[in-house]
Amino acid sequence: MSRPTPTAGLVDGFGRVHTDLRISLTDRCSLRCTYCMPAEGVPWLPGSAMLSTEELVRVTSVAVDLGIRKIRLTGGEPLLRPDVVDVVAALAALGTQGDRPEISLTTNALRLPQLAGPLKDAGLRRVNVSLDTLDRDRYTQLTRRDRLPQVLAGLEAARAAGLAPIKLNAVAMRGVNDGEVVDLLRFAVEHDYQLRFIEQMPLDPGHTWDRTQMVSQTEILDALSAQFALTPIPGRGTAPAETWLVDGGPGIVGVIASVSAPFCGSCDRLRLTADGQLRACLFAQSETDVRTVLRSGGDDEAIAGALRACVAGKRAGHDIGDPDFHQPDRPMSAIGG
Ligand code: SAM
Ligand code: SF4
Repeated sequence: MSRPTPTAGLVDGFGRVHTDLRISLTDRCSLRCTYCMPAEGVPWLPGSAMLSTEELVRVTSVAVDLGIRKIRLTGGEPLLRPDVVDVVAALAALGTQGDRPEISLTTNALRLPQLAGPLKDAGLRRVNVSLDTLDRDRYTQLTRRDRLPQVLAGLEAARAAGLAPIKLNAVAMRGVNDGEVVDLLRFAVEHDYQLRFIEQMPLDPGHTWDRTQMVSQTEILDALSAQFALTPIPGRGTAPAETWLVDGGPGIVGVIASVSAPFCGSCDRLRLTADGQLRACLFAQSETDVRTVLRSGGDDEAIAGALRACVAGKRAGHDIGDPDFHQPDRPMSAIGG
C-alpha cells in the first residue's frame, strides 16, 4: 500500500498546521450533564456505523504520518469503550522510536479507579477530568447522577498511577456553579490539579444557550482575582487555555474562552468522531466521511486525501457571534469535546 507523503502535512488555507487529533471513542456516556446531553431519548449512533479499533488506528496512523503529534481520546465517555486500554496501546505505538504521539484522555473519571493503572501502562500520558462542582447535591443535579465520590476516587487513582499533570475541566454556569469558582480553584491548588474553566458553548442538547447568560472569562477572572494573585503565563502557543500562576505558583489556573476570546487563529485541532467523520471544528457544519473511504477499500493515500480535504475546508473561525449562527446538528457528546 502506498504511504502518504509526510512532507505535505495538514495545512489549511490560512496556513494553520494541524498537529492535534481528538478522537471520540464512543457517543455513550455514564452521566447526563445538562450542557451536553438530554436526560433521555439520546439518538445513539448505530453499532455498525462505529469505527472498529482497527479502523480508527488506521486513520490515526495516516494522520501521524501527516504530522499529528498529540492525540486526545474523548467522547461521550471514552472509558466506556470496552477495549480502551488496547486502543491506547495501539495509538501509543504509532510513529517512530523517539517520535511517538502524546496520548491524553478527557474523562468524567468514573472508571479511572479500575483503569488508571492499565491505561498508564499502555502508554497514556495524562488525563483531563471534568468536575464542575464539589457539592454532591449540585453534582447530582448537574450530571443527573449521584457520582461525586467516584470522581474523587478516580482522581486519586490517576495520581497513584502517575498520570501527570492532572487537569480539571469546569464549565462555568450562571446561577449553578458560578459562586463556586474560588472553592474549585482552592481545591485544585491544594491537590496539585491544574484547573481550567471553560466558557459554556452553544452545544447543548436543548439549543437553549444564550450568550448573555454565559459566564465569561472576565467574570471568572474577576471572581478569582478577589482571592488570589494571578500572574499571566506567557507563551500560550496553540493551547486553547490562557493560563495564570496562582499566588506566585506552583498552582496554575486556565480559562478556555472559546466564546468571548476565540483562539481560532492558532487552532491546530482536527476531530474524528466515533462513526468515522472528520471535523475541522467543533462548530463545523460539514464533515468528511473517512469511514466510507475505509470501507470501500481505500488505501493510505485515500485516507490521507480525506484528512487533507477536511483540513482544506476549515473556515477561518467559528461564527458564534453572527446573528445567523446555528448549532451543529450533532450534540457535543457525539462530536467529541
Ligand atoms: N465525558 C468526558 C468528560 O466529560 O470529560 C469527555 C467528553 S466531554 C464532551 C469533554 C468536555 O466537554 C468536558 O470537559 C465537558 O465539560 C465539555 N463540554 C461539554 N459540553 C459543553 C458545552 N456545551 N460547553 C462547554 N464545554 C462543554
Ligand atoms: Fe458525559 Fe462528558 Fe457529556 Fe458529561 S460532558 S454528559 S460526562 S460526555
